[in-house]
Amino acid sequence: MNKGTICVQAGWEPKKGEPRVLPIYQSTTFKYETSEQMAKLFDLEEAGFFYSRLQNPTTEAVAKKITALEGGVATILTASGQSATFYAIFNLCSAGDHLVSTSAIYGGTYNLFAITLKKLGIEVSFINQDASEEEIVAAFRPNTKCLFGETISNPTLQVLDIAKMATIAHSQGVPLIVDNTFATPINCRPFELGADIVMHSTSKYMDGHATQVGGAVIDSGNFDWAAYPDKFPGLTQPDESYHGLVYTEAFGKGAYITKCTVQLMRDLGASPAPQNSFLLNLGLETLHLRVARHCENAQAVAEFLQGVSDIAWINYAGLPSNEYHELAKRQFDGGRSCGVICFGIKGGRERAIRFIDSLKMIAIVTHVADTRSCVLHPASHTHRQLSDEQLLEAGVKPDLIRLSVGIEDIADIIADIEQALSAIAE
Ligand code: PLP
Repeated sequence: MNKGTICVQAGWEPKKGEPRVLPIYQSTTFKYETSEQMAKLFDLEEAGFFYSRLQNPTTEAVAKKITALEGGVATILTASGQSATFYAIFNLCSAGDHLVSTSAIYGGTYNLFAITLKKLGIEVSFINQDASEEEIVAAFRPNTKCLFGETISNPTLQVLDIAKMATIAHSQGVPLIVDNTFATPINCRPFELGADIVMHSTSKYMDGHATQVGGAVIDSGNFDWAAYPDKFPGLTQPDESYHGLVYTEAFGKGAYITKCTVQLMRDLGASPAPQNSFLLNLGLETLHLRVARHCENAQAVAEFLQGVSDIAWINYAGLPSNEYHELAKRQFDGGRSCGVICFGIKGGRERAIRFIDSLKMIAIVTHVADTRSCVLHPASHTHRQLSDEQLLEAGVKPDLIRLSVGIEDIADIIADIEQALSAIAE
């Protein structure tokens, strides 16, 4: 099936007399007829639902749809994008390990890596994703377990050269993990470019209506863990908590997601509510339509802003003048990146605040990627504790305005921006 059909049809396949629409299985637990049947589930000898912390039929159907969209072999859904990032990493790394990450990443991911993983004994080296292969390779150590980056970084909108990063990761015998939240599988399938694991904050475009917080980790099934048994003992050596089972031997290409489910979800429990999986599925049914419209509207806004003398700079890969334009054309379906654009208004921080306060329809919210256009000034909101110097170090200009362009009528979006620009010109 093509991506648009997968969005609508994949995942839930009702049989005779079953509901056409994916039901919400609002049940913690599932019934069995004999003690032996249940024992086999606990020994991972048979697959089946027994407790919704581990697996739930609503959640599983949505996971299947996301697997198909990304072109992977298996997916685990989590309670948030943050837990998805943590699981993706912690499934490979433990105390004493190291990973390499690009520095252009979501602020919450940066905190997780720089502060919380450090407390767990996992060290992270941050690299400039646009540096040469030699410079990036220099950050690797014998205990490095993965390379991490965002397809399109939030909020700086840098585009990751996934094929380059995959080549580097594989030359070092580790997988490339990509956060594909902003691009979505509609615009980019990182597995086709060599990535091994993909993760998402499904709270963004996948849901697309800002109704649930969720995450997903998807495995391509391509990384050969067994080729590096000393590097990935958690996958290639016996698990005491399952009578000495070896994930790569028992589950083959399903090893990574199975371990993530039966160890991390079992022990840490960041599972999504079935109701949230249902809402996510509704969002996914229109992902292909929404993403196309978000990108079309964002392109129109970026082109409009280009002609406004009060605009200091614009960052959107859809503009031919953008440094990532060629890479976006090569890597993204139809050259489309996402519906988020960043720009600065002449006059810096103070005029940026006046501009966003003057918007009428476009709302100030700490979110991106839902149907409604919204705006944020990171220097005043998400990054407000940082000085101008610290902001620049984090790659966030003090005047940066992040605009998530919605799917409203483009004329109304531009009219709102125009009236706010007029208001601050007075
Ligand atoms: N990754 C990216 C690129 C994000 O933008 C976010 C949230 O904004 C996250 C991960 C974290 O996701 P969540 O807010 O669902 O925990």
